[in-house]
Amino acid sequence: MQNNSLPNFLKKRAFLTPDRTAIYFHEEAITFKELYHRSFKAAGQLQALGIKKDDYVGVLLKNHLDTVIILFALQLLSVRAVILNNRLTSGELVWQLNDSKAKFVILEPAFSEVEMALKAGVASLRCISKDQMLSSKAEDPIIQEEVDLSNVCTVMYTSGTTGNPKGVMQTYGNHWWNSVGSALNLGFIERDCWLCTVPIFHISGFSILMRGVIYGMPIVLHESFDVEKVLFDIKNKQVTIMSVVGTMLSRMIDTIKDAHLPEQFRCMLLGGGPAPLPLLQSCVEKEIPVFQTYGMTETASQIVTLSPEYSLTKLGSAGKPLFPAQIKIELEDGTIASSGKAGEIIVKGPNVTPGYLNRPEATMEKLRDGWLHTGDVGYLDEEGFLYVLDRRSDLIISGGENIYPAELESVLSGHPNVADVGVTGLEDDRWGQVPIAFVVKKDGADVSVEELVDYCMSRMAKYKIPKAIYFIDHLPRNAAKKLLRRKLREWLSEGRFE
Ligand code: ATP
Ligand code: MG
Repeated sequence: MQNNSLPNFLKKRAFLTPDRTAIYFHEEAITFKELYHRSFKAAGQLQALGIKKDDYVGVLLKNHLDTVIILFALQLLSVRAVILNNRLTSGELVWQLNDSKAKFVILEPAFSEVEMALKAGVASLRCISKDQMLSSKAEDPIIQEEVDLSNVCTVMYTSGTTGNPKGVMQTYGNHWWNSVGSALNLGFIERDCWLCTVPIFHISGFSILMRGVIYGMPIVLHESFDVEKVLFDIKNKQVTIMSVVGTMLSRMIDTIKDAHLPEQFRCMLLGGGPAPLPLLQSCVEKEIPVFQTYGMTETASQIVTLSPEYSLTKLGSAGKPLFPAQIKIELEDGTIASSGKAGEIIVKGPNVTPGYLNRPEATMEKLRDGWLHTGDVGYLDEEGFLYVLDRRSDLIISGGENIYPAELESVLSGHPNVADVGVTGLEDDRWGQVPIAFVVKKDGADVSVEELVDYCMSRMAKYKIPKAIYFIDHLPRNAAKKLLRRKLREWLSEGRFE
């Protein structure tokens, strides 16, 4: 075995703990042995359809047990899965498939309209419906007994929050080290069970699948986030860990009201975007064990995480880098910032991508000397805890002062009648830019612009107070529920709110 190789993850897991439950999905529960057998069969079917080692194959599937089987089947063959976001428009999918140069795509039978658009938009693409594939004839698959850690396992497009998404290459080593780094930090106990309601097509969901196999831990898989179902399964399936983004956690808190989560529940891993302080405070009050985390597609999920023991003293921090990873703050002149000074967050570690697929220039721009330039702004305190301020591209500079939209969003979200809020900058002759807020009121609640301005006045410096506040029904969010501030900017430039 080469030094940089490990035994095939799923095969090894099925050998070590064959009878442990791997996945709960609806009423079904399958063991690691069954997961391996079903993935092995699917690998034979994929191979019979002409898919082979090192091919890039598009995967356009929902959160479903079959998807888990297909994704591990591709790993058994050492095929690179280009995992596509199934909420994208046909145009966006065509763009990503062309960008990745995939020759096959496996998709849900329900996506037949999309299929026509993909065939028209991507030259020589073969569309394989999931059902057709799972009932086709299987060959004896050529299983990759070892995985080379530097080999590409998956390609995942960034959320496209700031612009066109980029295809991030994630190696077996990236996933392996992410799982190990997470376990060294959160710990792993035998009764652990991780609830996955986030999309598998994002790294937040996919990384849970990898941890399940690497740790030998059951996963409760949901098709989507449904708060009642989540609370039911946490109790009945004895869930101990769950990954959430802020909007999901807010809804859980609103639903549980004064009740508590069951005692065995030990970790609410909160990531994906800035965590508003009022939300973190409600978690402290309700004794929800929140671990704030910072990560991205390029770091194969978490790279920095805060344990609950610090949730009061370091409220709002994303924590310290996980064992295998390092972070620094870089200033515009390329020097490294001292503690307390804000600059670009740069990260390094074996979980960091080797680059963007078919984009050597973007790779060279973002990855320098092994350090990934995240485009996020933050600072480290004296003890090395990271505070993420915002994305550099969303920074509002008003009269020479920096305003981080996330800070304003955090303050406004603390108002009892505010359900959701997004802030962006508007060009202004006098100040350069001014902050503008978009607010969604809570159902049945009312609040006026004047009240919100007063609320801000007592909580932030005058220059940060939004110059206009518009009430809307809902904010533009993408499939990862991330706020699309560029849409807010578009609305303003179209003059929709004048
Ligand atoms: P694109 O790169 O295409 O614009 P994206 O950056 O939203 O999309 P992801 O990789 O899904 O795509 O998201 C990672 C980003 O999410 C981080 O770079 C950061 O901006 C934001 N983020 C993640 N965790 C946190 C956190 N704890 N606090 C603040 N921001 C966070
Ligand atoms: Mg990004």
